[in-house]
Amino acid sequence: KELTDVNDLVDEYLRLAYHGMRAKDNVFHANVETLFDPHLGALNINTQAIGRVLLNLFNNAFYSVNEKKKQINEAYEPTVTVSTKKLNGMAEISILDNGTGIPDTVVDKIFQPFFTTKPTGQGTGLGLSLSYDIITKEHGGDLSVETKEGEYARFFIQLPSQ
Ligand code: ADP
Ligand code: MG
Repeated sequence: KELTDVNDLVDEYLRLAYHGMRAKDNVFHANVETLFDPHLGALNINTQAIGRVLLNLFNNAFYSVNEKKKQINEAYEPTVTVSTKKLNGMAEISILDNGTGIPDTVVDKIFQPFFTTKPTGQGTGLGLSLSYDIITKEHGGDLSVETKEGEYARFFIQLPSQ
């Protein structure tokens, strides 16, 4: 673990994920909004592991808005909003997308290893289970989700910050 500026790390992986989507699908577009808490500062984290968590959450968000874009004809603005916030003794990173959302029957399973709703070759179903272990076991934090089917999914990473 090392002291890492979380806002910088989020920004770096957000760009990486966006460019990754563009490389696979050159008409991919999403509005990306960031709301960074300047008081967040540096956290003692496994930078590579947290980077992997962020990349997976951003990839999931971009994938979801892209799926919704393909499903609906009406005007739809794919939007991913990433914010950071310092709470009492905790740093919170939130990733909100206005994509497909997650049905109630599915949401209980998404942190299980190998659970995926993506077509073969597009997802391993390992991202969220690995992310959950990295956040909870390795960092003593929490990873949770709020979602409404058809409307949005919002993931919250909480990390201890002293
Ligand atoms: P994978 O991306 O390989 O499918 P993950 O563990 O990252 O595996 O995610 C598991 C499943 O959780 C996804 O297949 C999808 O059904 C659901 N999911 C994750 N993030 C989102 C999101 N932002 N919007 C909608 N569904 C999501
Ligand atoms: Mg994934």
